[in-house]
Amino acid sequence: MELFWHRRDLRVADNVGLAAAADRDAVASVFVFDDAVLEHAGAPRVGFLLDALDALRAAYRDRGSDLLLARGDPTAVVPALADELDAERVVWNRDYSGLARRRDAAVRQALDEADVPREAHHDAVLHTPDSIRTNAGDPYSVYTYYWKKWDDREADGPAPTPDGDDLASADEVEGARGELDALLAELPTPADLGFAEPDADLPEAGTAAARERLEEFLADDVFRYAEARDYPAESATSRLSQDLKYGTIGVREAYAATEEALDAAADRPEADAAESVEEFQGQLAWREFYTQVLYHNPEVVTENYKSYEEPIAWREDADALGAWKAGETGYPIVDAGMRQLRAEAYMHNRVRMIVAAFLTKDLLIDWREGYAHFRERLVDHDTANDNGGWQWAASTGTDAQPYFRIFNPMTQGERYDPDAAYITEYVPELRGVDPETIHSWHELSQAERDSAAPDYPAPIVDHSERRDEAMAMFKRARGEDPEESG
Ligand code: FAD
Repeated sequence: MELFWHRRDLRVADNVGLAAAADRDAVASVFVFDDAVLEHAGAPRVGFLLDALDALRAAYRDRGSDLLLARGDPTAVVPALADELDAERVVWNRDYSGLARRRDAAVRQALDEADVPREAHHDAVLHTPDSIRTNAGDPYSVYTYYWKKWDDREADGPAPTPDGDDLASADEVEGARGELDALLAELPTPADLGFAEPDADLPEAGTAAARERLEEFLADDVFRYAEARDYPAESATSRLSQDLKYGTIGVREAYAATEEALDAAADRPEADAAESVEEFQGQLAWREFYTQVLYHNPEVVTENYKSYEEPIAWREDADALGAWKAGETGYPIVDAGMRQLRAEAYMHNRVRMIVAAFLTKDLLIDWREGYAHFRERLVDHDTANDNGGWQWAASTGTDAQPYFRIFNPMTQGERYDPDAAYITEYVPELRGVDPETIHSWHELSQAERDSAAPDYPAPIVDHSERRDEAMAMFKRARGEDPEESG
């Protein structure tokens, strides 16, 4: 028997490590609740994780097997379970963050000490963090060049799905319980793990739900993605981020389906159908680009990727930070985004960029505050993507553009939500107010604001003043004189 350890690959289909183990011998599978990992989680993610595990366990049961659930330190639990099952080998898929790599190194050592063979596979990405490098052999720091190589490389097809014959029977799995206290009889509740019930409206978890999202997206929206992806009211993106994060769908399966969409693009009425599919594939590449940035630079979780001469003089402003988190800044598109986050544990990508730019360039608050809030609130929080997105917005990341790319939250709102449909969906105080008034909220007198939407706040900062202050802050960090123009 082989023991497969699930981590962020909560599926049976297209699972490289599981397929390799099942190809050799019957497999028993386990998921371990690790407090060192849970410490960094938030209620929405724990809610989604538990639902995904429920669906995974059902997938095993459907195949006459079962999923073992354990709680404890994997360095103790995994070797003990391997011993209990008399497993030939322990198999898992690699995870690329610093925390995961430290944990895996400790588990490897514990298994070596127990004389249990182990094997790790690449599964979470199409192209491993080491496989795409510059001609000089360095990891890429610029996406455009990375993407060219990523797109040129052959991608593996989906890994075979084990069936009942490849898996240990439910009785064999049950027999593993033995003396092991760490094994749980039932799926824990959020409260068992020290979390509140998620108060956000979460997407359905599990491979069937993820496949449905993928199919629905590829049936239509993917062919207009290049244009529509930037308009939050259109909801024209795949909504697969939590699935790719927790592995409820395999990236090879998702990519293979986009290749089929690319073939179908020629028969579509949209002029840019093929470019749209490629643009979507480009987002899968962004995910892998940030994965390799984190892999080669694990310190970016807390440190700036880009170095400045002087520390950036971010401001401490608890009131402004509180207003940002609550969606009460008086900048309608920012507030809509922050309220979508609260309501759905999700935010549209364009709006993530706007709210992140607002926190760092208008409120002059450290990106780490925003990252910590997203980490707690997003159902799809992924260390690599979240950190990459924040550092990009804060001009501390891999972006080739320098610090003077400062978003204007009003023009962004006007351009990407012209009818204010997204804004009014999440900011009820502005319902019934005409879009022009909403998009000029910062220019209205207090009397005009009181008459249009008395319950919606006035802007908490003046964007043009803050823009100048942000420029000065970054110039000082670059060791330049903020009074000098240019
Ligand atoms: P789609 O547009 O359908 O994209 C498909 C997939 O590609 C996504 O599911 C995701 O896996 C990947 N992807 C898309 N855009 C990006 C991107 N810019 N960078 C990296 N991968 C991308 N994405 C996360 O998955 N987790 C996060 O924690 C996260 N935090 C972010 C924080 C900030 C400040 C910013 C600006 C972006 C962040 N993103 C994050 C990227 C992006 O916003 C989300 O992936 C996207 O909105 C998810 O919706 P979707 O699945 O419908 O995306």
